[in-house]
Amino acid sequence: MMLTFDTVLVANRGEIALRVIRTLRRLGVRSVAVYSDADAGARHVREADAAVRLESGYLAVEEVLQAAKRSGAQAVHPGYGFLAESTAFARRCAEEGLVFVGPPAEAVEAMGDKIRAKATVAAAGVPVVPGGAEPGDLLEAALRIGFPVLVKPSAGGGGKGMLVARSAEELPQVLESARRTAAAAFGDPTLLLERFIADPRHIEIQVLADAHGNVIHLGERECSLQRRHQKIIEEAPSPLLDEETRRRMGADAVRAARSVGYVGAGTVEFIVAGDEPGHPGYFIEMNTRLQVEHPVTELVTGLDLVELQLRVAAGEPLPLSQDDVRLRGHAVEARVYAEDPSRDFLPTGGKVLALAEPGDPGVRVDSGIQAGTVVGSDYDPMLSKVIAWAPDRAGALRRLDAALRATTVLGVTTNIAFLRALLADPDVTAGRLGTGLIDQRLDALLAAAYGTGGAPPAEVPATAALVLHDELAARAGEDPWQVPDGWRVGEPAWTTWLLATARGETVPVKVRGLPARGCEVAVGDAPAVQARLARGDGEVIVTLDGLTTRFSCARDGAAVWLGRDGRSYAIIPHEAGDRGDHAGAGGAGDGVVRSPMPGTVLLVKVVPGERVTEGQPLMIVEAMKMEHTVTAPADGVVAELAVRAGQPVDMDAVLAVVRDEPPDTGAGAVTAAETGGS
Ligand code: ADP
Ligand code: ADP
Ligand code: MG
Repeated sequence: MMLTFDTVLVANRGEIALRVIRTLRRLGVRSVAVYSDADAGARHVREADAAVRLESGYLAVEEVLQAAKRSGAQAVHPGYGFLAESTAFARRCAEEGLVFVGPPAEAVEAMGDKIRAKATVAAAGVPVVPGGAEPGDLLEAALRIGFPVLVKPSAGGGGKGMLVARSAEELPQVLESARRTAAAAFGDPTLLLERFIADPRHIEIQVLADAHGNVIHLGERECSLQRRHQKIIEEAPSPLLDEETRRRMGADAVRAARSVGYVGAGTVEFIVAGDEPGHPGYFIEMNTRLQVEHPVTELVTGLDLVELQLRVAAGEPLPLSQDDVRLRGHAVEARVYAEDPSRDFLPTGGKVLALAEPGDPGVRVDSGIQAGTVVGSDYDPMLSKVIAWAPDRAGALRRLDAALRATTVLGVTTNIAFLRALLADPDVTAGRLGTGLIDQRLDALLAAAYGTGGAPPAEVPATAALVLHDELAARAGEDPWQVPDGWRVGEPAWTTWLLATARGETVPVKVRGLPARGCEVAVGDAPAVQARLARGDGEVIVTLDGLTTRFSCARDGAAVWLGRDGRSYAIIPHEAGDRGDHAGAGGAGDGVVRSPMPGTVLLVKVVPGERVTEGQPLMIVEAMKMEHTVTAPADGVVAELAVRAGQPVDMDAVLAVVRDEPPDTGAGAVTAAETGGS
């Protein structure tokens, strides 16, 4: 053990900051966290040995350098995102005598820009996807390679700003939108385009290089399960590759790394066309940093990539050669996002009211959240990663599903149920993967995750009503007229709750207590069943008609959050008076157009009074540099325009109202409960 650092600053937040801190702690190295005001009290701040506040956020180069110097750090680990691929930062570290735990600035520069990266590796003999790049004429290139084409920001990452153009007519508009995102997200409007390969596989190779000329690879990761060009499930090894293809792709990746004098851990990404069996894959880009999905490689190789990064940065030679790399078993990772798959995977947000993360054998959870964490729109909506290992692929998939089932996040809508549906898809279990799979199967996956119609199973509103009933009874205390089950004439009275799900469906639930016999509950028109509720710490155990189940449970204002099997439900009592007309408030049908996510209005494309047709773009809302076009729900007139360009909006905030006729009086959601006999 040479390692010369005794203190390392971690210039990141969330799960990756915690991941790096974990290895530092194991190596006996002091860790220094940095944090923005939004993250004061975050887990990475609590778990580091020291922490420094950043006035201007995680991209403030000079402040991070100051923090490193003040805390006595010799090195800075940038994680991924933020400063990880900033050559300016890497250079400033060197000037200040700090070691940047990453490749040399020249290698980052050569690979940070997709156009230059492709030219460099192509010159080294690595196959690249045919295409064209600016300052060349993109229309001319598209006509040469043929439509459809994929437009990408040259400086891009995270799948942002990538758009498909299907025809020459469509291209100018696609270029305009991609350019806007490229400039906003990456500060560089330069675009390239490539032949759009239909439903390819994304297979990437992890490489490791030291400063002594040794370059090895640690095998591949298959990352073909993507939404919006971003990975959500990754595995190692790939079910597709045979030994020979793995060897060829590994050799291409090593050649790509050598072509830029690479040092450190990096990933060379390839796409493999489904219709070219035996093709080793086209290079698409190299990520010059630790990647989100690095844990699957760690689990099959038994190596700690962060430790190896630190050792290489300290000048040590790689402790292993290519022949020492052994792949053992199979690992699969699922990314848990604060997003709603049924709303086009748009980011959600909220406060984590309760959290359960599994700790079973063969399961690793890299998480950045804790109870109390507020998930806003300032940062990437990835909350955690759940990773499972087993001797074979089927075992790893089963363990991962069980781990997701045991994960509960109350207070924030997540994609966990969708991930579970995806893991159960027959093509996924068979290893027939492709980057188009999620899009092609979206309806079936959503139905498997959320049921058809989207309504929660009846035991959810039943349990919520029992929780509310229990609270009302406790609050009523001694006043006999306030007790919800007050005896009327002859028998206990029913309390009716009109409950709404987060999606706006409403369901009436009746409850009445039966002394010494628990209670009775009836959901909708269904007959009443015997019920019993026991409340524990953060959970409720409910028995309905003899069947006992457990939900995790938390309250947030009027909302009752219930979680089970990786799903969570927010149930909100509605004022009973407007039942009937309230179902679907904010949904299609009432002409009210709401923001599908917390974000900022980027562009407003209509004016009040303008006649619009169904599906016509009304405005663009942006969050985390992701654009979402909000369209008219029906033909009509823009009766109201509630926002301006530049204005921040909450999720579900009213953006506009589109109507046929003059507006009538709108009704808002009120929260209250009606009690009384029935
Ligand atoms: P990976 O490539 O490691 O699998 P992602 O593509 O999902 O992971 O990106 C990881 C994080 O880094 C995300 O927060 C993403 O927005 C951010 N990111 C990736 N590339 C860039 C970039 N070039 N500039 C800024 N942020 C980036
Ligand atoms: P980013 O820097 O945003 O990660 P990439 O170039 O790595 O961008 O591409 C992200 C994803 O987009 C890939 O994993 C793949 O699914 C898809 N993709 C990239 N290039 C192509 C292409 N030429 N044809 C089809 N899909 C592609
Ligand atoms: Mg990529």
